[in-house]
Amino acid sequence: MPVLADPATEARSILAGLGLSLPASGLEARTPVDGALIGHVTPATPAEAEAAIARAAAAFRLWRSVPGPKRGELVRLYGEELRREKDPLGRLVTLEAGKTLSEGLGEVQEMIDICDFAAGLSRQLYGLTMTTERPGHRLMETWHPLGPVGVISAFNFPVAVWCWNLSLALVCGDPVLWKPSEKTPLTALAVHAVFERALARFAAEQGEFAVPDISQLLIGGPEIGNLLVEDRRVALVSATGSTRMGRIVAPKLAARFARSLLELGGNNALIVTPSADLDLALKAIAFAAMGTAGQRCTSLRRLLVHESLKDEVVARLKPIWASASVGDPRDPGTLVGPLIDAAAGEGMANALEAARAAGGIVHGGEAVDSAGIYRRPALVEMPAHGGPMLYETFAPVLYVVGYSTLEEAIELNNSVGAGLSSAIFTTDLRESERFVSAAGSDCGIVNVNIGTSGAEIGGAFGGEKETGGGREAGSDSWRAYMRRATNTINYSNEIPLAQGVRFDI
Ligand code: NAD
Repeated sequence: MPVLADPATEARSILAGLGLSLPASGLEARTPVDGALIGHVTPATPAEAEAAIARAAAAFRLWRSVPGPKRGELVRLYGEELRREKDPLGRLVTLEAGKTLSEGLGEVQEMIDICDFAAGLSRQLYGLTMTTERPGHRLMETWHPLGPVGVISAFNFPVAVWCWNLSLALVCGDPVLWKPSEKTPLTALAVHAVFERALARFAAEQGEFAVPDISQLLIGGPEIGNLLVEDRRVALVSATGSTRMGRIVAPKLAARFARSLLELGGNNALIVTPSADLDLALKAIAFAAMGTAGQRCTSLRRLLVHESLKDEVVARLKPIWASASVGDPRDPGTLVGPLIDAAAGEGMANALEAARAAGGIVHGGEAVDSAGIYRRPALVEMPAHGGPMLYETFAPVLYVVGYSTLEEAIELNNSVGAGLSSAIFTTDLRESERFVSAAGSDCGIVNVNIGTSGAEIGGAFGGEKETGGGREAGSDSWRAYMRRATNTINYSNEIPLAQGVRFDI
């Protein structure tokens, strides 16, 4: 095992390298690598949050009129700055969120990818032109900036989710107010400091288009997030986190008719059919269930295996689970890093207890450190689809059940509250087409011969039902950040009414 630096010292040195120093008191920032205190950060007061919202509202009045491709140029510069700082930022993600180094770096790569995407998009915010029933008329739609966007993000993708929102919102003409997870404030400070560099370059190179306060950071807990949710000046709130949080936030946004983009919990299933390429399936299952220590919204939680294969699949998964290396996420040999905190460890232990009570046979799952943060991934053979399988436990627990027909497997896939991600392993065209059809999986992500997690930014990302219905990142997700105006333009000398209505004066 390589000799690894003290995590808190390494994190402080990365922050110093990025020009950031931490205050002596404030909100504690810890690393799950060994639970140590890295330092403190200064939380925003309600008055500061209120002032930030007012500044964002003022920034919107200017930024909305900056040409789209100029807005895209700022995002392109941010992508350049991120490329330069990818290594330290990726390491900091690992130190603060506990994901393996390759995943920490991958998260920053995802930020770079969405910046590239958004820069191109800034020249493509197009509307349609429709034929009209009236002579001498033109019918079309235009897309306009929406207003300040509040972004509330979760600990497990501490920076990429913000960047998905930031890069699209900025090219769409909207300033952003970001309330990151209180569990990952340091990565937020770091990526925001790098954004400010891009903004300074933009001001130097494109001075006439530079607008202050188009991206602001509000460190704090739910109470600061709630200020964004309740403020009428925040036109869209994009909230990523648990379904529990969504249940609180969604009605408040609905009450003031605000736009919402909700990216909530998942409870994702993968179906293994008799025709599946098992070697492929096992690799995909291992990453989807154990990767990021099961702390992805798209992590695989429910494995539905055809009953003819179930014993073989379980027998082949058991040694993979038993040999997966659990440890310091900076060690290149580690596959499973720590959970975010002791409460997450307790949540995992409780779910396994509930599984045993429901007749499940549990393999693994035990804590390997005294704090209970490092845990062996668990594989649980369930007698039937039920008990703790029905809800999301944010930890590396994979429940396995058998099924007899594809119809039954699809029913089980769709039978939980969440509707985020799903997958099927099959080499039978009829089975795969059935799964992706209207009568198939009811999730926002429906994959064939690939796991449930690890999406690219090019597609729209999000899920249905208790996952909240929001879509972020690629495809036409940008529309959530803009308002649509339908324009009818009369260039004739008459004033005909639609549907043949007459009103002769
Ligand atoms: P969480 O719900 O505890 O917190 C998420 C964010 O919401 C934090 O910033 C928190 O401060 C804020 N928040 C909590 N209550 C709030 C309230 N009442 N008002 C305003 N803000 C509030 O989630 P977490 O533990 O950080 O993250 C894990 C959860 O996030 C899992 O359920 C996971 O599936 C989900 N998640 C979903 C996606 C997705 O795209 N669907 C992506 C990542 C994580």
